[in-house]
Amino acid sequence: MPLLVMKFGGTSVADLDRIKNAAQKVQREVERGYDVIVIVSAMSGKTNELVGWVEQTSPLFDAREYDAVVSSGENVTAGLMALTLQEMGVPARSWQGWQVPINTTAQHSAARFVEIPRANIDQKFAEGFKVAVVAGFQGIGPDGRITTLGRGGSDTTAVAFAAAFGAERCDIYTDVDGVYTTDPRITTKARKLDRIAFEEMLELASLGAKVLQTRSVELAMRYKVRLRVLSSFEDTDENSGTLICAEEEIMESKVVNGVASSRDEAKITLVTVEDRPGISAAIFAPLADAGVNVDMIVQNISEKDYEDHPGSVTDMTFSVPINQVDRAKRAMEEAKAAGQIAYDELVVDTEVAKVSVVGIGMRSHTGVAARMFKALADENVNIKVISTSEIKISVLIDRKYMELAVQALHDAFGLEAA
Ligand code: ASP
Ligand code: MG
Repeated sequence: MPLLVMKFGGTSVADLDRIKNAAQKVQREVERGYDVIVIVSAMSGKTNELVGWVEQTSPLFDAREYDAVVSSGENVTAGLMALTLQEMGVPARSWQGWQVPINTTAQHSAARFVEIPRANIDQKFAEGFKVAVVAGFQGIGPDGRITTLGRGGSDTTAVAFAAAFGAERCDIYTDVDGVYTTDPRITTKARKLDRIAFEEMLELASLGAKVLQTRSVELAMRYKVRLRVLSSFEDTDENSGTLICAEEEIMESKVVNGVASSRDEAKITLVTVEDRPGISAAIFAPLADAGVNVDMIVQNISEKDYEDHPGSVTDMTFSVPINQVDRAKRAMEEAKAAGQIAYDELVVDTEVAKVSVVGIGMRSHTGVAARMFKALADENVNIKVISTSEIKISVLIDRKYMELAVQALHDAFGLEAA
């Protein structure tokens, strides 16, 4: 039997009517001849509520009990989905993670898959069940305790099942109808993409396009799982939504396929640090130890060079998520106090945003950076930091120009037209 994985996010199973609506989509695929593995999230808002209950009960909670509590939302929707399918005459049963079993590492609330053996579910399919409804986001650790995968983890559960069972496709049903060239709230010219390459989606996901958990895209890329994002609130068919797939499956691609933006950025500059071998390690090791996610980095010649510092000095600038500024500052101050680094001043700019253009076509086309910078210059947007990768160019700019920059880049790269 061909097999499909269908995943329904929290808004798609938010109440009994919506579960019924989702179940009808499953039924349609069963009628088309598929065995289906359905992965469900908790009803929307449920996981937040459970996390809140844990924190109120025990501020320094035992991570194993946290997972025992927050994984329960998915158990409810899995059972309700199985019941709904049974009421429709579709042979279905629910599976909690441990019953499969979904074997994970021991890191509670950040567990990773170790193995998903097929035998138990395959046997039920052989017995005539058409649908296995699996609770997303959870698994079982080596010590037999329940684990969870991190927020948004049921996307990753879905991809892992698609890989383990060799599914024809992994359909992620959600409250948007696909992946867009940019955030449609920023420009009405944003266009839904029919297809996007894994690498591009990975960049967009990690840049804050919140459609999919980044790990799920990584996993899909590694195991070549064809992943589709589509709306559970619309009538859908094989061509709906956006297919995230290997580059080879995309006939024609633009040089740039997406413009991403991230508002919650901050820029930190260490003014006048020594320019010597080992200085970057001395700065970034304590930041890493403090759990700070450094993104962009620039080292430049300090203005003060040769003025009041006779030796060779430089400025070091880096960007961090805005909610990690205090942590980063503390790490730098401690390193300075311990004599590991020296700087004259630590300057924080919390009024910045990051805007990026993404496209696999950049590998083979030149001039993308120039076009991007020209478009920003035409709007009088000043660039503070630049970073590039093989398929991405990012700039840090004043936050108040973020929307303007996104709109200008969307136009400059002709993303409105298919
Ligand atoms: N319910 C979990 C969460 O909200 C997992 C998921 O929905 O993906 O994070
Ligand atoms: Mg989600």
